[in-house]
Amino acid sequence: MKRWNGWGAVDTDYPLPDAGRAFLEDRLGSGAPPEDATLEECLGKVPPSRLPDHPLVVRDPEERLRRSAGQSLQDWINLRSGTVASFPDGVACPETAGDVREVLKYAQNTGALVIPYGGGTSVVGHLSAPAGDRPVLTVDMGRMNSLVKMDGRGCLATFQAGVRGPVLEAALRAGGYTLGHYPQSFEYSTLGGWVATRSAGQFSIGYGRIERLFAGGSVETPAGRLLLPVFPASAAGPDLKEIILGSEGRLGIITDATVKVSPLPEKETFHTAFFPDTEQGIAAVREMARASLPLTMIRLSLPEETTANLALAGHGRTIELLNRYLSFRGVHGEKCMLLYGAAGSRKKVRWALRQAGEIIKGHRGVPVGARPGREWMKNRFRAPYLRNTLWGKGYAVDTLETALTWKRLPGAVQSIETALRKGLESIGEKVFVFTHLSHVYPHGSSIYTTYLYRVAPDSAETLRRWKALKGAASEAIVRSKGTISHQHGVGEDHLPYLPAEKGELGMKIINELCRTLDPGEMMNPGKLAR
Ligand SMILES: Cc1cc2nc3c(=O)[nH]c(=O)nc-3n(C[C@H](O)[C@H](O)[C@H](O)COP(=O)(O)OP(=O)(O)OC[C@H]3O[C@@H](n4cnc5c(N)ncnc54)[C@H](O)[C@@H]3O)c2cc1C
Repeated sequence: MKRWNGWGAVDTDYPLPDAGRAFLEDRLGSGAPPEDATLEECLGKVPPSRLPDHPLVVRDPEERLRRSAGQSLQDWINLRSGTVASFPDGVACPETAGDVREVLKYAQNTGALVIPYGGGTSVVGHLSAPAGDRPVLTVDMGRMNSLVKMDGRGCLATFQAGVRGPVLEAALRAGGYTLGHYPQSFEYSTLGGWVATRSAGQFSIGYGRIERLFAGGSVETPAGRLLLPVFPASAAGPDLKEIILGSEGRLGIITDATVKVSPLPEKETFHTAFFPDTEQGIAAVREMARASLPLTMIRLSLPEETTANLALAGHGRTIELLNRYLSFRGVHGEKCMLLYGAAGSRKKVRWALRQAGEIIKGHRGVPVGARPGREWMKNRFRAPYLRNTLWGKGYAVDTLETALTWKRLPGAVQSIETALRKGLESIGEKVFVFTHLSHVYPHGSSIYTTYLYRVAPDSAETLRRWKALKGAASEAIVRSKGTISHQHGVGEDHLPYLPAEKGELGMKIINELCRTLDPGEMMNPGKLAR
C-alpha cells in the first residue's frame, strides 16, 4: 500500500544512521518533528463531490484525497499539515482508450476540468485541482497497464500509457529486452507520465531520454484522437511527437505509447572514482561525454555532495579507510566522487571502462572499483524514502535541476547554491545545499541540486521558507541562462519562469496548441501554460 502523505510503500523505510543525524545537526541545528495531520482529519476536509454518477467515476473522499497532489515539497507540506486547498470531485479509472473517450465526453457534458494522473510522482505541481466553479475530474491511468504489442525484431514495444516502470520492465525482460529508462521514481511513475514530462532516466546517456525512446502512440484529445504513427525516421514536416512530449496533460490523454527497446545487455557494471577537486572532476566528465564512450551513466558529485553521501551512508569504519587510501593517493579535502556505468557485450564494456579509466587518470582521478557502484545500484530506488525519515526528524528536503552549456555551468552552480544557502539568512536559518552533474552531454550538463532546511513548528512558515528558497534558486537559474527544467517539467511551480526561456512568440505557440486541441479549456489548466 502506498503512503498517502509521503513517498512510497508504507512498509519500506530508509533509516538515518546516527552519524548521519549528527552530520545534519552540525549543518542545520537540531530538527523538531512537526505534528502531522491524520488521514481522518484530512478526509474531514474533503467537500462533497459536485460530479454526477458515472460507472467509470468514483467519488469516495479517500480516493479523491489520494489523487489531490503529487510529490513536490509544496504538495508534501500541504498533505502533511492537512492544508490541501482543493480536491478533485471524482476519480475516473479507465481501462481502454474507449473508456478515456467516454470519460472526456462526460467531462465535457458536466463542464468538468480534467487532470490526467499517471503515478502521481510529479515534483513541480502538475496535479493540483484548480479551485473555482468547475468540478474537477482526475483520470487515473493505473488500470491501463498492459503490454499491447511486442515487435522484438523491430526493437519496438507498445504499452498502455498507465504502465508503471517495474511492470513495463518485467514484461520486456521476459522477452530479453529492456527500455533502459530508470527515473528515480521508477517504482511508481508511468510511461504516459514520462512522455508527458520529458523524463530522463538514470541511464539516459546510454539508452536516451524518453524523447529518444518514444516512437509513437495515441492521444485522446477533446478535439479528437491524435495518432502518432511509428517511422524509423521522417522528413514529413514538423514531428508531432514533439508536441506531445512535455505536454503535461494540457493537450489530451496519452492512451498508448510505442517505445524503442534494446536487447538486454550481456554485462552491466558501475564503477567509482574520486577526483582531487571540482575542476578536475568536471574536466574529466566533459572529456568522457565528448569522447562518446558507450557508457550508460556519468554522475559527478561535487565536494559538498561527496561529503554528504559519505556521511549519510553511515559506514564509519569503511569510509575512514577509504579516506585514508584516497589521501595516500593525493585525493583529500574538496574531493569529487564519480559514479559511472557501462552496459553491453563484455568486450564493449571492457573497452568503455578502459577508455574511461584513461580519462580519469589523466585528470588525477583515483578509481576505487565496483563495490560502491554495486551498493548504489542496490539502493537507487530506496534513496527517496529518506525524505520520509528526514521529515520525521524535522528536516524538509527538496531538489531542483537545470541544464546549461559547459561554459555557463560553473557560474550557475555557484549562483544557485549561493541563492539557496543565503535564502533563509534573514530569519537566522541555515540551508544545507549540495549538487551533482547527472546527465552529461558533449555540449553541457544537467545540474541537480538538493537542499535541506529545518521544518518550522507552523506549516505555513515551512511553506513560506520553501517558496523563498524555490523562488531564489529559480531566479538564479534564469539569470544563469539555464533551462528552468532539465527533467521534471514545468507544472505550476516553474510556469512563472517559462516565458524567459520560450519568449513571447514561443508562449503564444504553446497557448495556441492548447486552444486547438482543447478548445473548451478543460485539460489540466494552470500547468505549462495559462
Ligand atoms: C523521488 C522522485 C524521484 C524522481 N526522479 C526523477 C528522475 O530521475 N527523472 C525524471 O525525469 N523525473 C523524476 N521525478 C519526477 C517524476 O517522477 C517524473 O516527472 C515522471 O515522469 C512523472 O510520471 P508520473 O507517471 O508519476 O506522472 P504524474 O506525476 O502522475 O503526472 C505528471 C504530468 O504528466 C501528465 N500525465 C501523466 N500521465 C499522462 C497521460 N497518460 N497522458 C497525458 N498526460 C499525462 C499529468 O497530467 C501531469 O501533468 C522524480 C520524482 C520523485 C518523487
